[in-house]
Amino acid sequence: MGGTVSKITNFLLPDKIHTIFVSIFTPMRFSDIPGNAKEKKALIYEAREKRVSHAQLFLGPEGSAKLSLSIAFAAYLLCDSPGQTDSCGVCPHCQKVSNLVHPDLHFVFPVVLSKEEKVSTSDDRLKEWNAFVLKNPYFDLNGWQMHLDEMGKNAVIGVEESRHILQKLSLKSYSGKYKIMILWLPEKMNNQAANKLLKMLEEPPEETLFFLLSDSIENLLPTIISRTQLLKIAPFETDDIAYFLETKFSVDKTVSYSIAGLAQGNMVEAVQMVSGDENQHIYFDFFVKMMRTAYAANAFELMNLSEELAALEKEQQKNFVRYGLHLFRESVILNYMKGELVNLRNEERAFLEKFAKFINNQNISELNEEFNLAHYHLERNANAKILFTDLMIKLTKLIKKGV
Ligand SMILES: [Zn+2]
Repeated sequence: MGGTVSKITNFLLPDKIHTIFVSIFTPMRFSDIPGNAKEKKALIYEAREKRVSHAQLFLGPEGSAKLSLSIAFAAYLLCDSPGQTDSCGVCPHCQKVSNLVHPDLHFVFPVVLSKEEKVSTSDDRLKEWNAFVLKNPYFDLNGWQMHLDEMGKNAVIGVEESRHILQKLSLKSYSGKYKIMILWLPEKMNNQAANKLLKMLEEPPEETLFFLLSDSIENLLPTIISRTQLLKIAPFETDDIAYFLETKFSVDKTVSYSIAGLAQGNMVEAVQMVSGDENQHIYFDFFVKMMRTAYAANAFELMNLSEELAALEKEQQKNFVRYGLHLFRESVILNYMKGELVNLRNEERAFLEKFAKFINNQNISELNEEFNLAHYHLERNANAKILFTDLMIKLTKLIKKGV
């Protein structure tokens, strides 16, 4: 089942919102990135004081602004007339960076190696990469692989890549300034590639900057870490995510804050929540089954359902849990406000009109707590089978409380 469920659900917005989700993120300047004031200041300070390290580690959790900050920083460094707080945005260098066609700006990222498809390095996926980043620089490895329709396959930065990196960096700089190599997820380098990179960091080619963008420092060679200057990127603030959703997706404050709250600093998840709706029906079906099973306290069905949920991709499991939270919230609104403000599709409304009465003061806060907790544990790679079984058992008790 997992393979057929490919995109992320939308569950909070009416359908018309999706159509305005086109390329709304470019150009990439510091001012295009919400929040991150401290990080921007540190980068600009480095540039203005001419203290740019030849190897910089952008370390931040999934869904932080690593990629957009590194591109904005590249633009700032290559710009003809950078200002106090941002690149000019109009010079030829800025233009080229914002279209990701600047000859001094290079990207390396994990790809699924394939002989048949002739994929051995990032360059073989560069077209797809550029299009994807231009559309939205907030994505994770999972999103990148979904884009390529390569979910669940092993994406790596292979040894062949290091040869390509050396080749590119041996060229003369086009701008007469820096050559910039942005390595997205260096933790995906295999050992050989990592060792080659280490050599490059030890003896960097002239006027070359390496930006390493990493989710987790644990999977990087200590020798690589020690050769880089560390810049920690904080998760996004709730206000910044909400503002971003309001301005880029034209959603109202209630929606933007409820998404931002669920996203917990992760912009990738926030953007996923407002875009794409392919899986809504699947999540809805699961939700209905889950509630009926819990209501009937059917142990056999409960095990079956836990297994089905455990078979989904991790992202889908998280989306499903968030979807559940959304329907709980809408149920309460339906109960107490007679449905004027609910944001539901027809099938959802039809189901909740009968079911919502079981979600009430007796159980809503515990239901929210359990589902939030499940989401928390899924993020941390809990065993999904155990987690969903446990959740189902708790749900069975909680639904009883509401009857
Ligand atoms: Zn410029």
